[in-house]
Amino acid sequence: MRNRSSAFCLPHAAWPLFLAAGLAFPALAQKGSAPAREFHWPEGKKAALSLTFDDARGSQIDNGLPFFEAQGVKVTFYVNPGAVKARQEGWKQAVRLGHEIGNHTVRHPCSDNFIWIRERKAALEDYSLTQMRQELLEANRQIRELLGVTPVTFAYPCGQKFIGRGKDVKSTVPLVARLFQAGRGYNDESLNAPLFGDLAQLSGPNMDNRDYTQVKTLVDLALAQGGWLVLAGHDIGDDVKPQMTRRAMLKELLEDVRRPGREVWVDTVQNISSYLRRDPKKQ
Ligand SMILES: [Zn+2]
Repeated sequence: MRNRSSAFCLPHAAWPLFLAAGLAFPALAQKGSAPAREFHWPEGKKAALSLTFDDARGSQIDNGLPFFEAQGVKVTFYVNPGAVKARQEGWKQAVRLGHEIGNHTVRHPCSDNFIWIRERKAALEDYSLTQMRQELLEANRQIRELLGVTPVTFAYPCGQKFIGRGKDVKSTVPLVARLFQAGRGYNDESLNAPLFGDLAQLSGPNMDNRDYTQVKTLVDLALAQGGWLVLAGHDIGDDVKPQMTRRAMLKELLEDVRRPGREVWVDTVQNISSYLRRDPKKQ
C-alpha cells in the first residue's frame, strides 16, 4: 500500500501537491530496501475486511441492503451506469445508507474469450488506453449524474488489467492508478499487505458460492499477518446459482470477525484505502 522505504515519507502537507501531480499511488517498493516501519491498524484493530459486490445487480438492493442495514456494516458496490439506471431509486438508497459506490466501467470490457463479450463487442483485446480512459471518466460522469456521488475506487471487470494483444498488450494499472484511489482485482488468491502491496492492484478473492469454512481461512490469514482482506462477490441471496454470495456465509463471517479478540476493521474500500494513503509518520 505504501512505500517500503522510509525515504518516501512525505510530510503531511506535501500530499495534496503529490496527488495533484497525478502520482496518486506512491506504493512503489524500492528493490533491496528493507521494511523500515511498523504498520498499525487504527484503534487496536488487527486486520481489515472489505465486502465488495460487482455489476449493480438487483439482488444487491433487494437482499443486500436490508441485510447490511441489519448487520450495521458498510460495503462497496462496483457499478455500471446502465445497470444503475434500471434500479436508480434502489441505488440512491444505497448511497443514503452510507455504502460506497465504485466504478466498474460503462461497457464492462473483458477478454474476447468470453462469448458474451464477443456478442457485445467489448473485448479488451480491441481497446486502446485512450478509449479506456474516456470510458472510465464517462462511467464516473454518469454515476455522478445518476446518484450524486463520484467514485474514487475501481474494480477491474473480470479482474483483467490489460488492453491489446500479444506484443502490443498494455497494462491498464497505471491509468487506474492515475484516476482512482484504489483498483480491485478479482479471483485473486490472497490478501493485501499494507506495507508492501499496491493500492492500484488490490487482491480480491472471490466469495461467491463459498461457505464460511472456505472464507475463514483467509480471515485467519488476515489476522495472523495484519492484512486487509477484500472479498469480491456478485449476487446476494440464498439460492444456489452461479455468482451468488450467500447471506448465510456473510452472517457467519460477520459474527466471526466481531467475536471478542478478533478485532477486525470492517469498512469500505474507500475508507480503508484512505487510511492507507495517510502520511505514514502519523501512524
Ligand atoms: Zn463485473
